[in-house]
Parts: sequence; structure tokens; C-alpha cells
Amino acid sequence: MPELPEVETTLRGISSHVINTPFTRITIRNPKLRWPVPDELAAQLLQQQITKITRRAKYLLLSVNQCTLIIHLGMSGSLRIVTPETPYDKHDHIEFCFANGKALRLKDPRRFGAVLWTCEPINEHPLLNHLGPEPLTDEFNSDTLFNLSRNKTMAVKQFIMNSKIVVGIGNIYANEALFASGIHPGRAAGKISKKRYKQLCINIKRILEQAISQGGTTLKDFVGGTGKPGYFKQELLVYGRKGLPCVQCQKPLKEIRQGNRSTVYCTHCQT
Ligand SMILES: [Zn+2]
Repeated sequence: MPELPEVETTLRGISSHVINTPFTRITIRNPKLRWPVPDELAAQLLQQQITKITRRAKYLLLSVNQCTLIIHLGMSGSLRIVTPETPYDKHDHIEFCFANGKALRLKDPRRFGAVLWTCEPINEHPLLNHLGPEPLTDEFNSDTLFNLSRNKTMAVKQFIMNSKIVVGIGNIYANEALFASGIHPGRAAGKISKKRYKQLCINIKRILEQAISQGGTTLKDFVGGTGKPGYFKQELLVYGRKGLPCVQCQKPLKEIRQGNRSTVYCTHCQT
């Protein structure tokens, strides 16, 4: 599933190709994504330009006039830059063509992604108005995390994966950040000291930044006809390593289920 670093890498990968060049054609090959792709899209976009692309949580926000084209990659979506002549892949559902001769295609085999159009202030949009801070900003820090966690009995892993607390910490990164911080994923959020939250914040930011900078080396993959999105495998210390030796103590890593998601941790190093 595309996580925050992949979405950020996508933003950086596509921006220079599609900004400040008019839309010349919009082809909706299959409107049945998570929500129907609006019919009005072509009428709204033709001859207009994207002036900037930003990201909020895992939503890509393409500014067009005073409005916003919202793109979410869902479970399996990817965006790539091709020429309009490139044969379609079976799962290429939407294509945006531009006056500079480039085309942006959304491929999404599982169709949990979204392409939406809104002219309301973007932070008030129902998909975005409840979201907590971005993890890589100063707004996300150990003081706020500590304060929000008081009296919370929910497991710390679920606490940091809650988008009202902080956005963009997916399952992989939650597993890795808790291991790096020596925190047991099942520990009650309200029972964790400020000092440990400080460590956790530092690790969350470091791991996400690392993933984004590794993604930077794959930017070229957003261009061309391979159909392979530029996603990347980071070196993971616990996620996907159930039963393998802990890199710190060599004891086998344990897997449990939390909120129907896989958690892998070290019973010795994480307390
Ligand atoms: Zn260990």
C-alpha cells in the first residue's frame, strides 16, 4: 500500500511534468474508484493548469484555479508520466493529457483510490478537516503526543496510527518506529513517559525522512512505460521479519495482531 513516503515521492516525481501546462484531454476509462470520479472533471479542467501540487496526509492536492483536484492512491494506486501514445495498461483508469505532450496516468488495480474535485477551502473538505498534524512538521512533537495520550488506554501502536493524532504513520512505520524506540507496541498510550515519547517522535521523523530520501533515488521510475511504480523497499528491522532474529539481541521476533494489522516486535528489547 502506498504510504506517506511513497505519496511524497510521487508528488516530487510528477510535479515538474504537469505544473503550468494546460490540460488538453481528460480520459476517464473507469470512473468506479472508491467514489465515482466526477463527470464534470473534463469540463472543469480543460485549458486550465495545475499551479502547484501539495500533500496532506496521503492526499495529493493539485491546485487548479481556486479549486483542487484531490488524488488518493488507495491500496494499490500509482501515478506515472507517459506519452499519450503509450498503450494503456488494463488498470489505467484515468489519463490527464497536457499541452507539453505528457500524460499523467492513474493505475489502480484494486480501485480503492480516489479522484475528486472540490472548490471549497481544502482544509474544510470532509476527507481532510479532522486530520491531525503532519509528522514531519514541528506541530508534531513529543509534548503534544504526551498530552494527547494521557488517560488513553489504547495501545500505543494504534494511538500513533490514528490520523486524528498524527497523519501518515502506516503499519510498517509504526512497527519500525516502536522497535527503534524500544517501546512495546501493546503498551497503553497513557502509560508512556514524556521521555519515551520524545524518542518515539525522533524515530518516527527519522524513519519517514529516510524512506522519502530513498524514494528520491527512484524518481526516474515515474517516467516511462514500464508500469512499475517508483515504490521502494526500505531496510526494515521488524516489519515482515516474524520469527527471524532481532538485530539487537538475536531472539526471534514475535508477531501479534492489533486492530487486524500485523505487529512484529521483540519481546526482549521492547518494553
Ligand atoms: Zn531484541
